[in-house]
Amino acid sequence: MAASTGGTNGHAVAVEVDGVRYPSARSAAQALGVGYSMVTARAHDPRHPNYRWLGATPGRRELTPEDRRIARPLTEPERWPNDGGARRAPVMDLNYDPPRVVRRVGWLRCMCCGRPHFSEDVARARICLDCGGAGGMPTGPRPDWDA
Ligand SMILES: [Zn+2]
Repeated sequence: MAASTGGTNGHAVAVEVDGVRYPSARSAAQALGVGYSMVTARAHDPRHPNYRWLGATPGRRELTPEDRRIARPLTEPERWPNDGGARRAPVMDLNYDPPRVVRRVGWLRCMCCGRPHFSEDVARARICLDCGGAGGMPTGPRPDWDA
């Protein structure tokens, strides 16, 4: 955008509102006591001829998470009833393209007490909470190994 007015972010485009010029939509919004998005929306809107861009019209494409640079949350599968460890569900990190598997969740038998528990990481959390591990709360009675 050649017509940048040299705003702090390098993308500011001057606007004119009711014949008053402002160096950017943000400064116009501050001066007028309205929202920044309202100023930009009206400057784009032909029904508001008193709001207009001075210089190259900023792009109006929809912002994606990439544009916003906001991390997308991991996809956490819903927990399911104990299936004896048959199913392993991946937790995906959608910030990679293609998405990466960061860990897998599922039911395990605790390596310490042998009770089933839902582990948030079947590779690394193999001991239940009750036994001091990082796995889930065990279900069922503790086996009578000491008796
Ligand atoms: Zn245990």
